[in-house]
Amino acid sequence: MAFYKITYNEQYRFATVHNYGCTFHCSTCSYKLRSGSSGKPGLAFPAPKQYLETAEIKEALRQLPIKNLYFMGGEPTVAKDLPEILRFAKEELNVGTRLGHTNGSKIPLPYLDGANVGLKACDEDLHRTITGQERNRIFANVAAAHKVGMDLKMNVVYVPGLVDLDQVEGVAAWLASVDKDIPFHIMGYIPVPGQPYPQPTVEQMMMAETLSRRHLRNVASSRLEPDHALHLADRDDRFAVTRVL
Ligand code: SF4
Repeated sequence: MAFYKITYNEQYRFATVHNYGCTFHCSTCSYKLRSGSSGKPGLAFPAPKQYLETAEIKEALRQLPIKNLYFMGGEPTVAKDLPEILRFAKEELNVGTRLGHTNGSKIPLPYLDGANVGLKACDEDLHRTITGQERNRIFANVAAAHKVGMDLKMNVVYVPGLVDLDQVEGVAAWLASVDKDIPFHIMGYIPVPGQPYPQPTVEQMMMAETLSRRHLRNVASSRLEPDHALHLADRDDRFAVTRVL
């Protein structure tokens, strides 16, 4: 798995390098929304026809007047050339670096300023069932990333019947043990093909926020309809990008 495209946001002067593939196997993966598939999570999006060489990624980035470089797509740390592109971004371009989303499998990393990290569940057994991976290793990575000064923004997807309110609050409580001021965003699950779980109601989302605020100072939530999730650029100009490679 590797990087396969680069997009650019002219207004905010950031580029995003997009990866294909993931280390988790969440059945409720939101990538299924775009693919319409109920198939293998993390890889539900159709595979790119070709991948980018490290040298061509660097050359494309050199041409862009960017202030920040982001990495997205499944789990971007699976891309083998991520460490070298991070070094290049810092040492040669002198720009900010951030994982636009990550499941926390491989943080902290050298030359990486920040990350938006999605935690999947608080309970160890449930975490393993959902993701196929150990909860403790992921949570330890988050604590280590915070300790070295990475700018973290955390999130959890509230999935009624799977990742319930006790899990949302459990994640918030654990996060408070690291730092009560870390921003925490609760995302309402958007139903994907082949899964039985409903979208949380507005009232359920408010309860999730209330429970999380018992532990953390900086809590927010969002509850998007599927159509909104597929057309984010219509509502948020940070998603208005053009493909450059
Ligand atoms: S970690 Fe994220 S991208 Fe990977 S399978 Fe889970 S929801 Fe999908």
